Amino acid sequence: METAYVLFGSNLGDKEALFAQACLLINNRCGRVVKVSSAYESEPWGFEAEEWFLNRVIVLETELSPEVLLDALLQIEKELGRVRNPEAKGYTSRTADLDILYYGNRIVLTDRLTIPHPRLHQRRFALLPLCEVAPQLVHPAFNFTQTELLRRCHDFSEVRKIENPCNTTI
Ligand code: AMP
Repeated sequence: METAYVLFGSNLGDKEALFAQACLLINNRCGRVVKVSSAYESEPWGFEAEEWFLNRVIVLETELSPEVLLDALLQIEKELGRVRNPEAKGYTSRTADLDILYYGNRIVLTDRLTIPHPRLHQRRFALLPLCEVAPQLVHPAFNFTQTELLRRCHDFSEVRKIENPCNTTI
């Protein structure tokens, strides 16, 4: 059994409802959702879009291997309406993006998977919710806690905690 940290991101559709559905499907198929972070809204990062993102971290206890977990998350993204446009370069708007930030303290480097997520330490929208749910979690390659990663992060894009998000019941 490992603890995985999954980042949900959405800037299309009913973002809180999509988050609730993602949690439900992850809880049914991937293991047990033990904690979720508050909701954060973040300005689009790396591309122009009108709608800001909703970001939340899901803490999951799972027996699935990282590869099998990735496949399950990709399937859930698809079911939640994400359409990947192979022509689109870089970042685009999406209904649901599910990234594996950490999988226990494992380092995974395959063709399909890089864990810890290679850009999490550069993104406030990942670090802020991580600092809320696991401030002392240590990055297995950099050896810094999430709190320390946030302190060292040079991303100054805007990320706001939403104080009263809809309650998500799992
Ligand atoms: P994206 O379009 O940003 O959601 O990228 C999805 C693709 O990134 C997946 O099909 C994976 O093969 C790859 N990937 C590499 N590392 C990770 C990770 N830690 N979590 C999720 N996807 C990953």
